[in-house]
Amino acid sequence: MKKTNPITLLLIIHFVFLLNCNGRVANEIHILHFNDVVNIESTQGGKIGGAARAAAVIKQYKGKDPLILFSGDAFGGAALSNYYKGAQVVDVFNRLGVDYAVCGNHEFDFEMTDTVARFKKSQFTWLCANMLLHDLRPIEGTSQSALIDRGGIKVGLIGVAGDWLESVGSSSKKIRYVDHISTAQRLAQDLKTQGAKVIIALTHMRLADDEMLLKKVPEINLILGGHDHEFIEKKLGDQLIWKTGMNWQSMGIITLTIDAPNHVGITARNIPIDETWTPDPTMAGVVASYTQKFDQSLSTIIGTTTEPLDTLRTTVRRKESNFGNYVTDVFRKVTNADISIINGGGIRSGIVIPKGPLTLKDIYDELPFDNRIVTLAVTGEELYQIIEHGFKMYPEQYGAFPHVSGIRIIANATKPAGQRVETILINNTPVIKEKQYTLATNNFIAKGGDGYPFLSTKPLILDENAGPLDFKAVTDDIIAKKVISPKIEGRIVIKGSQVE
Ligand SMILES: [Zn+2]
Repeated sequence: MKKTNPITLLLIIHFVFLLNCNGRVANEIHILHFNDVVNIESTQGGKIGGAARAAAVIKQYKGKDPLILFSGDAFGGAALSNYYKGAQVVDVFNRLGVDYAVCGNHEFDFEMTDTVARFKKSQFTWLCANMLLHDLRPIEGTSQSALIDRGGIKVGLIGVAGDWLESVGSSSKKIRYVDHISTAQRLAQDLKTQGAKVIIALTHMRLADDEMLLKKVPEINLILGGHDHEFIEKKLGDQLIWKTGMNWQSMGIITLTIDAPNHVGITARNIPIDETWTPDPTMAGVVASYTQKFDQSLSTIIGTTTEPLDTLRTTVRRKESNFGNYVTDVFRKVTNADISIINGGGIRSGIVIPKGPLTLKDIYDELPFDNRIVTLAVTGEELYQIIEHGFKMYPEQYGAFPHVSGIRIIANATKPAGQRVETILINNTPVIKEKQYTLATNNFIAKGGDGYPFLSTKPLILDENAGPLDFKAVTDDIIAKKVISPKIEGRIVIKGSQVE
């Protein structure tokens, strides 16, 4: 019998030691991460994200036996959520094989019974360490932490949230926030005592809170966060804070390497989920079944209009529209803002909805972007420049053409672009240039969409997490009023206009 060379034998032993049964290197832990996924369907005109592409990404990395971790906000916040109350996302997450998730504010958009039902249907664990019932018991269907074994390495997971309860829906009254730092300190120390080599915190809070958490709880190696909707990577020594863009704009691919008894190395990549990924056909079918049923539900009659609603492009991108007046009135009413402005390009159907019954579909077709209503403060001076921007292409059709509530605009079409707004009146008196006014708008233009000046530089008073969906606010208003009669009121007067 041929003798095995001792060096070869050593290499074989070393190789067997390094690989576990899945072919994963034994001192490595692989993670797939995402956060703030409220849309199971793809977004941005079908180009980005979607559960079917996410499934394709996960399939590609399956050989690495990854932990799949989600950092909160799934149940509410999209048009489909109004119908399914998050059941559609739980189903998709179950199919994707999500392992752990932290509670985000949108988990509490509906009644507490809905929230608990979703937690119970989840084939993964919701970590919700510091959002507790009033008697400090955990919410049914949630845990505070987990200790798992990945190929002989003990991994501690904790899930903590920021203090965002004020911004959430009706079930918020059933729960209370407990300080997330002291909670995380206690849980991290417990997990270390139980032998955890790595501590991962799943969080749903603002970046500044994550940074403070990392400082105060040095046991944490990695924070996988949510609540901020953009991609964020922040290294503090060996520790990392990581957030992936919302709605599967991308997925985080993270590898932890235990390269010394007490050292955890971290490498992370952000993989865009774009058209280069072929959607997984099975998951595409699941998503389609949810969207089709939702589409059928849109035929429900919600009220009546006594006036035809004009959303023609030649109207909404050039002049006052009764539908624009109505929508901005709702924006202002639900936020108590002084003023509301939306962009004509945000009103989509390009038709005249006849007087008579209104369906959910009538409104959804006009406001299909799942935009949220937000508020911010602007000075009277800034307001002039914001409105000027909306008039700069006049009389051409322009997506940024404004529809307004709370103000009247007198403009002069014969003047050059940038000098067309003569007066902006609030309660029949000119706005005061130095005064601050609260402005309700949609998150699209608040983030700089359609190029309005100043807006993207302003801190949001009511942010995307707290503000209602525009479609939902408008349909709720119609349901409450039963009959609406929006009219042209002379809110936008354009002198010297050639436009009929
Ligand atoms: Zn959130």
